[in-house]
Amino acid sequence: MNAIGVDVGGTKIAAGLVSSGGELLRSVRYPSSGPPEKLLENIARAVLEAGEGSEVGGVCLAVPGFILSKENKVIFSPNLRTIEGIPLKEELGRRTGLNVTVENDANAAAWGEFRFGTGRHVDHLVFLTLGTGVGGGVIIGGELLRGAQGAGGELGHVTIQATGPRCNCGNRGCLEAMASGTAIRRRALELAAERPDSALGQLAAERDLLGEDVTRLAREGDEAARRVLEEAGVWLGIGVAGFVNVFNPEMVAVGGGVAEAGDFILEPARREVQLRSMSPSRDLVEIRLASLGVRSGMLGAAALARHPSGECVLGG
Ligand SMILES: [Zn+2]
Repeated sequence: MNAIGVDVGGTKIAAGLVSSGGELLRSVRYPSSGPPEKLLENIARAVLEAGEGSEVGGVCLAVPGFILSKENKVIFSPNLRTIEGIPLKEELGRRTGLNVTVENDANAAAWGEFRFGTGRHVDHLVFLTLGTGVGGGVIIGGELLRGAQGAGGELGHVTIQATGPRCNCGNRGCLEAMASGTAIRRRALELAAERPDSALGQLAAERDLLGEDVTRLAREGDEAARRVLEEAGVWLGIGVAGFVNVFNPEMVAVGGGVAEAGDFILEPARREVQLRSMSPSRDLVEIRLASLGVRSGMLGAAALARHPSGECVLGG
């Protein structure tokens, strides 16, 4: 039987009908803007259109923010405040007639990479998504780590620099504050001001710098752009070295927009892990790019969708 995974983001809702083999059979998009009633209506509409004419066993929503998974509620979602506090299982169940559950978006993406992506041959996976923020998910022995309340696996908010810049969560020097796309852009602007003659400096004088500019200029050989990515990679590696010691994973998969920078960021991260984490964990672990791109959340959510009995629709 098929399942539906719904990626609910700050601007859009993307619902996908997924087969048990992880094939995306159909996908539908709606905006996520507007009041709560409109949001529910659009999610329900996306689900019904995605599943039209197919037998659907269950639906799982991948949502950014802190989730109470047992209650299927989002308690805090800075980029999607309208979804907070809604009893999603009941409200969407009533509108779609389907069993609806909720998962953190990074956990869902981690599960997607584990079931269908770069982590499909391992049992112990740490997943990081580097975008505007840093999301994380941990799979140990084939099980998604959720913690006591479903709020576990927030790898982006581990402190890696005690006096570092303020993070969106209120703390200072989180991995997110040092290695996210936002952090890279902030550092790029600083270096552009310090080195006005670099390609980075020249571009920043002409127009606003974007994260992808840094990657492109690094590829073109600009030393300042390369240094920005190198520094982010070092911070990433400091974070990952800790995760390697704690979880002893076979693989660390890195996705999100920043991962487009590839080895400019992964190589320094691998070096830090070799320097800082312990043997035998550091000898085993492979640090590589995630393979599903933006589809990981939707595919992972579908693989986490459950029948009313509690069984996963796509098996597992
Ligand atoms: Zn934080």
